[in-house]
Amino acid sequence: MSKIVFPENIGVTEYGTVRLGKDYIADGNDRTRRARIRFQTHAHRDHTSGWLKNIRPGRALVTSKPTIELLGLDYPNVHKNGNIVPLLHNQEIESKGLISSKFQMDWEIENSDISLFDANHMVGSSQVLVKNRATGVTSLYSGDIGWPLETIPNADVLILDSTYSKLDTSDDKNWNRQDAVDRLLQLISSNLSVKPIYIYARFGIMQEIIVKILENIDSEINFVGSDEIISKTNIISTYLSSSPTKIINEKEKYNFNNVIHLKEFHKKQNESLNGLNITISNFNPQNNAPDRESSDGDYINVLLALTNHASGEDLANYIQSVNPKYIITDSARNASNANKLADQIMNKFKILSIPSSLSSVWKD
Ligand SMILES: [Zn+2]
Repeated sequence: MSKIVFPENIGVTEYGTVRLGKDYIADGNDRTRRARIRFQTHAHRDHTSGWLKNIRPGRALVTSKPTIELLGLDYPNVHKNGNIVPLLHNQEIESKGLISSKFQMDWEIENSDISLFDANHMVGSSQVLVKNRATGVTSLYSGDIGWPLETIPNADVLILDSTYSKLDTSDDKNWNRQDAVDRLLQLISSNLSVKPIYIYARFGIMQEIIVKILENIDSEINFVGSDEIISKTNIISTYLSSSPTKIINEKEKYNFNNVIHLKEFHKKQNESLNGLNITISNFNPQNNAPDRESSDGDYINVLLALTNHASGEDLANYIQSVNPKYIITDSARNASNANKLADQIMNKFKILSIPSSLSSVWKD
């Protein structure tokens, strides 16, 4: 299998940057400085390392409008200083002409048609497609994908997220995503007026949960959050069907009932607060229920599986729809899943698959 030659300049580097051709990267910086066209699939931190370098002169950053708004929270001058191309989902543009001619000097950009497609992972999240007219190769980076997806493009090479990736859903798993949402709403309704509620979640899924709460629970609810959660929610909510009228800043003094504290996922590790603590996790706690509960005096902890990563049958359907000749799974963000997933794909679909640690660009 190591003798099979995958198309050149496509894969993932050990520092997590995705390559989709000589001139194209996604989600990270290019240490070789070759790539002129740079994509950002979404604003989660495990995908944004060194992103500011992608708006330097002579480069173009192609991304969705919500993603650039979220990145702009870290760097308010982003529009003033960067060559940013906000692309609508399903819109196709030519790469030629994205870089001003004064930066072209004596090298040319490969001419490709490039597009972003909705990835249903969080607001603005995108799959990236590059159809290279020079080499004839079409490459697709899934980014983080949720399910279902409106558009799944065909491609010769697929670079696949392996954050939470199993092709077989466990046979004894007898609940689905809606059961997890129902459990969440039930936990909130029965505790809201009785004790403080804390929700620990990554952004994206957090705002999706806020919408579910607003649209399904009839009581007056007071949301409390940090500066960061408030500013992110203000941006994300403009793209969703419901938004809280106000989120109270956790630094303010307040004395309300029916309080839900919105907390950053990573803060869960060192916090233990009296009340109901709900942690939204990507992983299945067990097979017979979407949640696992434990309590210690006034402290109740619930781990709830509510993921925005496609897995199981959905992931298998995704691969079949893309119908690629080659698949490269992302080892930079999850090495052991990438190995397992590449093996599973070879076995199930007989499509040539390698983890990106074996791709030609790993050491770039
Ligand atoms: Zn993500």
